[in-house]
Amino acid sequence: MAASHHSTDIVIIGAGPVGLFAAFQCGMLDMKCHIVDTLDMIGGQCTALYPEKPIYDIPAWPTITGEKLIEQLQAQAEPFKPTYHLGQQVVSVTKTSQGWTVKTDKEITIDAKAIFIAGGAGSFGPNRPPLKGLEDYEGKSVFYYVRKRDDFKGKKLVIAGGGDSAVDWAVSLADIAASITVVHRRDDFRAAPDSVRKLHDLVKAGRITLAIPYQLRALNGSNGQLNHVIVKTLQGDEKTLNADILLPFYGLAMNLGPIAEWGFDLHKHQINVNPATCETNQSGIFVMGDMAHYAGKLKLILQGFSEVAMAAHAAHHYVHPDKVLNFTHSTDKGVPV
Ligand code: FAD
Repeated sequence: MAASHHSTDIVIIGAGPVGLFAAFQCGMLDMKCHIVDTLDMIGGQCTALYPEKPIYDIPAWPTITGEKLIEQLQAQAEPFKPTYHLGQQVVSVTKTSQGWTVKTDKEITIDAKAIFIAGGAGSFGPNRPPLKGLEDYEGKSVFYYVRKRDDFKGKKLVIAGGGDSAVDWAVSLADIAASITVVHRRDDFRAAPDSVRKLHDLVKAGRITLAIPYQLRALNGSNGQLNHVIVKTLQGDEKTLNADILLPFYGLAMNLGPIAEWGFDLHKHQINVNPATCETNQSGIFVMGDMAHYAGKLKLILQGFSEVAMAAHAAHHYVHPDKVLNFTHSTDKGVPV
């Protein structure tokens, strides 16, 4: 990708659900946006981690999958033609006399009047099990995300972990996989009680086998294709499981990445913001969605949407210092066709 230089009103860091809605809200207030994301696709956690799972708490959508929600958000932002720069991480932000300059690791430079950080969990990636030769299998027969259930149709699956993802995917894939073995180190799942009940029902029905109290020990296969997963107890008892695919679900490694170095007032892996505006301790930089912190913050998509609306109104004077912002409803203003 060639180095390039752009100029816009707002740079949005993060193309998750909150970043996409920010492009819409900014558009409604006549602010143009460029959106940058480390991932090579839009949607953040929704597309990377649970594209086919139904979400039940998006207002006006009794149920919507992660993937569909992202499609809808992209369509909603589209009239305002945001420019996407995917597959690259924002590595620095620098104050200028005009606002801020953002640089990515693919040598794209964007000048903007203000920055919105909708960076979610930051540079998130899966916690990888410490197994010898793991990288040979990753992306071929070891996967950390389920993007399409059908990819696992007719396969012998070993699912490792005891949280929501391990339990939910075991339950969800039970009707299409050839076999499923869930490997967990103890007889206690940290998942929603209803999901754990469904898991045990499927175990009773013979659709899922539990390997408890076992942990992953080694992989066996060739050319990236697994044949067996070897598991062992703390006492050293080993078991060999037939496997085409291993799905380790050990949670996400959350890491603010370069954002941690930009001088913000941090709260663990989040950034403290003014809850009325979502502005940080650096004027002209706003944070919304999972990365924002204030008293009462809930890491919910709907709360991120509301933060975006407040931030867009608060950022307006950086972009249009000579214009008074009169509050209007979308029904009055409409969107470009
Ligand atoms: P994210 O979705 O995390 O997106 C942030 C994006 O920023 C990422 O794509 C990342 O690559 C990018 N990024 C970070 N740093 C940089 C950088 N320096 N440069 C470029 N890009 C960067 N929420 C609900 O409300 N309801 C639910 O039912 C629900 N279910 C969930 C189920 C699961 C399994 C999971 C994991 C989460 C669930 N959530 C749910 C939480 C929800 O997905 C998050 O609240 C939401 O994704 C946060 O959106 P976001 O846009 O703030 O961040």
